[in-house]
Amino acid sequence: MSGTENVCAREGCSFHAELVMIGETPLSAVYCGDACADFSWLRRALEASEPSTAVAECWQNLNALERILNARSEPFSVGPLIGESLYAG
Ligand SMILES: [Zn+2]
Repeated sequence: MSGTENVCAREGCSFHAELVMIGETPLSAVYCGDACADFSWLRRALEASEPSTAVAECWQNLNALERILNARSEPFSVGPLIGESLYAG
């Protein structure tokens, strides 16, 4: 855990994580938004994957995605990365 400020847990992100109410207890969220949470989930999944051509392509996509996330000016200008594709159909 880092410091007293609730900065988003994704590396390179300087947005603040919001407080979320769990029951009646306000807890600080780990990430500033769904995009960062999904990004970290994807990165962990890739780190756990055996190196392959497909995984290398995924890393390239992830790095491009990281640039988009680092360049945005609002935490929610990029929405959930995973949910949309899951529920689109
Ligand atoms: Zn973030």
